[in-house]
Amino acid sequence: MERAAVRIVGAGPTGALLAILLQRRGHAVELYETAEGGTSLQPYGQRPNELIYSISRHRLNQTLLEIACRQPGVTVHFEHRFESAEFDQGIALIRDLRQDRLISVRMQPLLATDGAGSWMRRCMSSMHLIEAHETDLEHGYKELSMPADAAGRHRMACDALHIWPRGNYMLIALPNADGSFTATLFLAKRGEASFESLTETSAIDRFLSRSFPDACELMPDRIEEFKNHPVGFLGTVSASPWHHRGAAALIGDSAHAIVPFHGQGMNCCFEDCVEFDACMAKHASWDRVFAEFGALRKPDTDAIAAMALDNYLEMRERVAHPKFQLQQALSLELERRFPQRFIPRYSMVMFHHEIPYHTALERGAVQAELLAELTAGAVSTLRDIDFERAEREIRAKLAPLN
Ligand SMILES: Cc1cc2nc3c(=O)[nH]c(=O)nc-3n(C[C@H](O)[C@H](O)[C@H](O)COP(=O)(O)OP(=O)(O)OC[C@H]3O[C@@H](n4cnc5c(N)ncnc54)[C@H](O)[C@@H]3O)c2cc1C
Repeated sequence: MERAAVRIVGAGPTGALLAILLQRRGHAVELYETAEGGTSLQPYGQRPNELIYSISRHRLNQTLLEIACRQPGVTVHFEHRFESAEFDQGIALIRDLRQDRLISVRMQPLLATDGAGSWMRRCMSSMHLIEAHETDLEHGYKELSMPADAAGRHRMACDALHIWPRGNYMLIALPNADGSFTATLFLAKRGEASFESLTETSAIDRFLSRSFPDACELMPDRIEEFKNHPVGFLGTVSASPWHHRGAAALIGDSAHAIVPFHGQGMNCCFEDCVEFDACMAKHASWDRVFAEFGALRKPDTDAIAAMALDNYLEMRERVAHPKFQLQQALSLELERRFPQRFIPRYSMVMFHHEIPYHTALERGAVQAELLAELTAGAVSTLRDIDFERAEREIRAKLAPLN
């Protein structure tokens, strides 16, 4: 494979990790990024008996970027924005924002890790080199804060993800190390109760205090924050293929951004980097690397996109229903009885890295059907469950997971 410098646009988590991996394989790397920073903190919560550690995405990004910058052969160009590509000539146009001048560089190839709003994806799509879709959720989100108490302690349990499901909208709160919580309100962008319609202080106050009376007591700055904080975008990106010949490839969120309700977006991007690295070890041409990478990863990224959307419905709606709660309890019980065959879908995704996303989706569908059957009708507690039938069905439908 040609050893000319590989270009990467976007020094988020994907771009920074890829730069490190490419350098280890002997490639020089030119990394272009328009800002000096990264993304913002959004920690995730915990389940009863399996832990999810929350860390700052921003700090993780910074750390990876610092490591990338220290590698010999990796050059980072801050304040440089990718603007367009001319595929027939094999060049990319990048603006040096400090001097406001456009420079043209050979693609050799160019890896686009420029995130959900990827300019490279839009370029490739407008030239009909790929098909790409961006599906906005009808909901957006706003962050609100819940400060620590006077002694600097958390004012709710700090070993849990708190959810206030309200059907068409919801509030969640995640603990921070300093005793505060970051609360996130997910709400329709337009319509009757929406970010667009709630503009007056009295209307905002009424909406929040009627919907979340207990949470409001913990959010003294809620009105000001509601008015001043931006509405975050939530959406799903899909593209196919992810590359054009051996010239350019989309990797990470630029290829497959997902809604954040499974807390898996960045993990999915890191899996991309590892798989991409494995493809580089196997093939001598970029064209082959890109083609195999896309073929291997797409089933898994499609699966996690679907599961992240489904988790949204689960968090804002289903989590409050008694039948759903019974099914949750039953799935934990079935996991205890048949740990090799029945693992709740959420656990497969969050705690079993060895189970690919597409397998979790497929087995999850079989399990959901089984849970619905076993809890149908008048069944209302675990004591009512026909466990003999459960065992028969599980052995027939769910092969052991080594
Ligand atoms: C609210 C929210 C919560 C989340 N929570 C979690 C979570 O709990 N767990 C998890 O795993 N994931 C989470 N994610 C997802 C995770 O943040 C993303 O999957 C991850 O950041 C994607 O990494 P990336 O490098 O592909 O893209 P990005 O992080 O978007 O980075 C893209 C980089 O490219 C740069 N760039 C953009 N355009 C250009 C250009 N034209 N030229 C040069 N550079 C450019 C940007 O400045 C940026 O640095 C969350 C996302 C959101 C929105």
